[in-house]
Amino acid sequence: MMIVMKPTATAQEVQAVIERVQSVGARTHVSAGEEVTVIGAIGDREHVARLELEGAPGVERVVPISKPYKLASTQFKHGVRSVFEIAGRKIGGERFAVIAGPCTVESREQTLESARVVRDAGASFFRGGAYKPRTSPYAFQGLGQEGLRLLAEAKEQTGLPIVTEVMDARDLDQVLEVADVLQIGARNMQNYPLLAEVGRSGTPALLKRGLSSTLEELLMAAEYILKEGNEAVILCERGIRTFETAYRFTLDLMAIPVLKELSHLPVIVDPSHAAGRRDLVTPLSLAAAAAGADGIIVEVHPRPEEAICDGPQALATDEFADYVERVQAAAALAGKALSAV
Ligand code: PEP
Ligand code: MN
Repeated sequence: MMIVMKPTATAQEVQAVIERVQSVGARTHVSAGEEVTVIGAIGDREHVARLELEGAPGVERVVPISKPYKLASTQFKHGVRSVFEIAGRKIGGERFAVIAGPCTVESREQTLESARVVRDAGASFFRGGAYKPRTSPYAFQGLGQEGLRLLAEAKEQTGLPIVTEVMDARDLDQVLEVADVLQIGARNMQNYPLLAEVGRSGTPALLKRGLSSTLEELLMAAEYILKEGNEAVILCERGIRTFETAYRFTLDLMAIPVLKELSHLPVIVDPSHAAGRRDLVTPLSLAAAAAGADGIIVEVHPRPEEAICDGPQALATDEFADYVERVQAAAALAGKALSAV
């Protein structure tokens, strides 16, 4: 249930509604916009309905939210799309964010070189994993703390904010020292305790769709983060399992318009992990940008053939500036310009 207050509602009237909602055991989530305040009532719908808040002082209207996710739903923001500003870079609205960097932090040279190239080509965030979710327990698992240190150095040298994955809530404090955006990998999309911790951290989250998750499951996962008071969740389509075996995953481009219909949250696309192959990354990126995605997260490496992780899908740094130019043109078709500082 969502209670939209009148533009003229006083602070006391808002408070009175909050107290009445809480008196029936429901939680409140207040979103104070420039013009109106909206109070989300999360709890037993029948109990809240019985309060008959329509007509209460200061209340404009009461809107039931029929979806199982509330805070993530389009209705919750009464149709207004969320735009986040992270370290001066906008995600959402008329901006297109390019998040680029290697799959994993391997060495100082590889990290700093990638960060410089992606910054010079117009990327707005640097990505790189220090903790890697690998299918095999025998594969390289990431540099851990040393990787975080190198990311901090890349941030210092280039000024680019950092997107990096947190796999385990026990690492969260350390990851938070460098991360401007916490990535939650596809395999952890339904790790509910982790989602709640990321929610409590208040740091923006980039939530990847699980390998076999529906859009509703993705939005329910986002709800776990939002419910803790963290409003900045970026949804990411990264390819899903289908019967097709000719490529690694099927990039579900329809998720872009449909997620935008269901939710006010920004939607970005990861062409690299969907494709698993470098030659598919550009066409998928162009399609995603033209379809209205709010950004892309893409893997780039100075020497992809030597990459420890995901080399076959990494763009080479020397082709990256051309790539960004083409993606920028596709984003312009959807009315978006690159996020800049
Ligand atoms: C990654 O971004 O490097 C990654 C492992 O992605 P995903 O969780 O989508 O597989
Ligand atoms: Mn990767």
